[in-house]
Amino acid sequence: MPTLIDDYESGDPQRVLHAVWQTIGCRDPELLDPLVAALPRLRARTADVELGGMIYSNSTHREHAFQVIENHRDGLCWCAAYPDSLTYDPRKEQNRGHAEIRSTSTPGWEMTYECVCAVCGQVFDVEQGDHHVTWWRWVPRGVKRRRRRGSSNVGGGA
Ligand SMILES: [Zn+2]
Repeated sequence: MPTLIDDYESGDPQRVLHAVWQTIGCRDPELLDPLVAALPRLRARTADVELGGMIYSNSTHREHAFQVIENHRDGLCWCAAYPDSLTYDPRKEQNRGHAEIRSTSTPGWEMTYECVCAVCGQVFDVEQGDHHVTWWRWVPRGVKRRRRRGSSNVGGGA
């Protein structure tokens, strides 16, 4: 089985994109830790790979995958990735147990959600829009908290 690092370094757009999406959906430190160590190399090896993209350039997703790796390196909560990409569907995040939808506007193509990170409790205002594909803009309220060295004096009360 090729590792994600092998895929990133393959020079093959399909394999690079596979690794990119595996990284973006990943919350497994055992998979992410090796990517942290290899990150400078991964950036260099993928810089010239033409990833294409029908509507949005896939290189945007590659950059987001690297952001996910950096967030993990820096000990940020998983939800720190949300504002960096327009691809996080609140309903899917809720189904995965990553976030909870507290309320929504009237459902439609364009709507808003109030979401809470299931790990750190960060609240987000999420705007859903539609431009060729559906997108979601996550805006955190207040100051971001950390996953590992988390403070306990902030939050909605227990
Ligand atoms: Zn969080």
